[in-house]
Amino acid sequence: MNKTLLKKIAKRKLAILLIVFFFSLQNTIIFAQEKFKVVIDAGHGGTDPGNLGHKSSKYQEKDIVLKIALAVGKLLDADKNIEVIYTRKDDTYIELHERGTIAQNSKADLFVSIHCDAFGNANVHGAGTFVLGLHENDRNFEIAKKENSVILMEDNYKEKYDGFDPNSPEAVIGLTMMQEEYLDQSLMIASLIQNNFVKTLKRKDRSVKQAGFLVLRNTFMPSVLVETGFLTNTKEGSYLNSKKGQEEIADAIYKAIKLYKKQVDDNIVVEIKPKPEPKPTKPKTRIVKGVDFKVQIASGTKKLKTAPYNFKGLKGIERIKIGAHHKYYFGKTSDYLKAKEMQKMVKEKGFTSAFVVAFKKDKKISVKEALK
Ligand SMILES: [Zn+2]
Repeated sequence: MNKTLLKKIAKRKLAILLIVFFFSLQNTIIFAQEKFKVVIDAGHGGTDPGNLGHKSSKYQEKDIVLKIALAVGKLLDADKNIEVIYTRKDDTYIELHERGTIAQNSKADLFVSIHCDAFGNANVHGAGTFVLGLHENDRNFEIAKKENSVILMEDNYKEKYDGFDPNSPEAVIGLTMMQEEYLDQSLMIASLIQNNFVKTLKRKDRSVKQAGFLVLRNTFMPSVLVETGFLTNTKEGSYLNSKKGQEEIADAIYKAIKLYKKQVDDNIVVEIKPKPEPKPTKPKTRIVKGVDFKVQIASGTKKLKTAPYNFKGLKGIERIKIGAHHKYYFGKTSDYLKAKEMQKMVKEKGFTSAFVVAFKKDKKISVKEALK
């Protein structure tokens, strides 16, 4: 082989390398998705120690929940598709409404608040998971009251929390329509966590319940509050205070979040997975004759005026009553891709769980069916 031939081969290799490089770059851009954001909220902190457990122990709820929270975050961090946001990473006091603001500002997909319970009777033990709602019974109210009472330490708490009195069982936790929209997903993550606690870790099942937790009130996303166990129970307290206990609890929460994400992802895949197109060019429209695609932005039992001020300025909202629920839709088009664009736009406006629905002759059909 002479030198010019060698040079030619070298040039060719470089050209191939460059092509491969650009292709992989393109793929990276195509598949670069927005990360799934999880807010991990370690309850209490700083001047608020949370509950102090049994009088024989020297536990502080704030320390134990921080360790569990950091462990959950560390496990989630290993997944490059997940971004972890902490409300606190050290022993600082964060006001309850501030925790909600952190979640809102980060446009998170999920909010998980971690706590330990306490009770006068040291025999009481077990793990429970809560979603926001009206207290179903006195015990739930007692737990919520305990977790909410920290606002009494805050200045102007009545102003900050709309006159909310943590000691009054009648104090209404305003469930806005948007939160009702997230109730299903909140219940889904709650039951996944609870299931891991009970089935895998054999914790006593205190089940998934609803109560008026202030910290969940200001998070407009699927949100749960986990009561990992009772520090007042000596056995459970020492388990939760141990490295083994904290790691196991963290692992149970982590696995539930991963499964939750998968279930949410799978749902989306079913909806947006386009059929393989014979043409190599990307279609700009996908008209389905006789079908109206709309974007569902909210649903709830409350009948709301469709005025823009109720929907972050969105105009032309349509309200349809299906069963006991009023569903609220934005836009109307027979072009599926345009509907997906509208979905993206309303998601950016804050309706993060908005999804595309299809109607045929005013009858709701599945998007999958519509795209057939
Ligand atoms: Zn707590």
